[in-house]
Formats: sequence, C-alpha cells, structure tokens
Amino acid sequence: MVCSSVKVGQNCLFMSKKGCGFNGGTCHIIVEACEGCQKAVQYPVGKYCISFPDPAAKWHTGNCSMATHLEATTKKETAKVNPLKASKRQGR
Ligand code: SF4
Repeated sequence: MVCSSVKVGQNCLFMSKKGCGFNGGTCHIIVEACEGCQKAVQYPVGKYCISFPDPAAKWHTGNCSMATHLEATTKKETAKVNPLKASKRQGR
C-alpha cells in the first residue's frame, strides 16, 4: 500500500489501512554511515532510506549490504592477493 506518513507516495509493505505497521509505527531516519548512498532520499520530514525502514539496523553488524557508496572500496578490499606471487613480484 502507498505510504501516507513519512515516505509519502512510495509503495510500502508495512503500510495498511490502519497506518504504518513497522516497529514504532514509522520509518527511522538514516544514520551517519548512510550519507552518500543513493538510496538515502530527502523527504519533507527528513532523509530516509528507500529500501529499509530502519537503516541503523542494517549497519548494526557491519556494512549495509545495499549501500551504493561503498561498492568501489569493497571490491578493492576483497581482491585476493596470492602472497607467494606477491613476494616473487617484489623480488624482480
Ligand atoms: S541502502 Fe543501506 S546505506 Fe543506503 S541509505 Fe539504505 S540503509 Fe543506508
């Protein structure tokens, strides 16, 4: 159903005729770590995530899995380096 409280006009699974059914009855504002993410959208009442109603929970156990602003750094960090080949390269 279309949200009529915070993310006005956006389709939401938590919205019903009785109002927002999410924990606390409303979405929660983004956290500092969300700044720069393309999914953080400014609404008249504040900045909210278009994917998750509680952004703080997404960052609770590490990086948010849907964050768009972490993609470049995450790929670099996960590039595997074979220590044996790396030491051979240094020797050249
Ligand atoms: S997708 Fe993750 S990082 Fe981006 S705004 Fe939502 S909770 Fe924050």
